[in-house]
Amino acid sequence: MNMFNQIKGALFGVAVGDALGAVTEFMSQDEVNANYGYLTEMTGGGWLGIEPGETTDDTAMTIAVAKGLLANPSDPVGRIGNEFKKWVETNPRDIGNIIRTTFDCYEGDWFKAAEKAHKVLSGRSAGNGSLMRCLPVALAYGDLKKIEEITVLQSKMTHYDDLASEACLIYNRIAYRVLKGESLKSSIEEEIKETRYCDAIKEYPDVSPNGYVVNTFIWVLNILWTSSSFEESVQKAANLGGDSDTIGAIAGGLAGLYRGFASIPKRYVEVLKPKDELETLSEKLWQVRENETASGSSESNYTTPGSKQY
Ligand SMILES: [Mg+2]
Repeated sequence: MNMFNQIKGALFGVAVGDALGAVTEFMSQDEVNANYGYLTEMTGGGWLGIEPGETTDDTAMTIAVAKGLLANPSDPVGRIGNEFKKWVETNPRDIGNIIRTTFDCYEGDWFKAAEKAHKVLSGRSAGNGSLMRCLPVALAYGDLKKIEEITVLQSKMTHYDDLASEACLIYNRIAYRVLKGESLKSSIEEEIKETRYCDAIKEYPDVSPNGYVVNTFIWVLNILWTSSSFEESVQKAANLGGDSDTIGAIAGGLAGLYRGFASIPKRYVEVLKPKDELETLSEKLWQVRENETASGSSESNYTTPGSKQY
């Protein structure tokens, strides 16, 4: 499959999973069933009262990461931060608690702000908010070491807990393999081996589909493992309720990356509000990736403040 189709599939996959799942966010599975039966269409609604095809913070922050990477691929943290600030200035209604707290603590250094927020939140900073936006990192770079470094940094900008960066790392390592031509299933299998996620593909998850990054990622892995189409992946997420938009965005991103843009139903793409922006960003990310491949990747200078090695 050509790489542009995959990159575009990934970005649109995040947005479609978000827009579909936003309708059922914070509902229980029983409430989802009572209201929608099995939700398969972009109905709009939900606690945010979104329009059909409208996306939420998951897509907004993915776009912010993509723009930051494009603005300065060799040193993106500052530019990603600028994009985060621009988004917060739009006064989004759906900003997550950990990210809101990090913004409140920000005084010029993202990593210090995230550490302070971690303390303010009594150590509860292992949310799924850095996982939902990290996929552009695996799209922009061909070098695994660089992907890993920037993946962790973008997580640590808002989420101090190592559980958040660990999930981002595993997710983007899967994306790296998929972009190299491996199947989604073998990529997942290889990357979750001997990790806390090794049972996620063996049994139906018995954890709540909430915003705790470990629970979210268990659901994402199980959904990807048990789905045979893009559509099935995002619909399964939407019908979970709980943090369904974020689980849908994360699952949709990898499903779209593996299966390509053409696998995403047209009826979803056509109503998607940010589709023009996603199209432009897909082209630009692909160009950066192509240029990087042509010129050879360079070593990165980054270190990760306060992070453990995995
Ligand atoms: Mg959301």
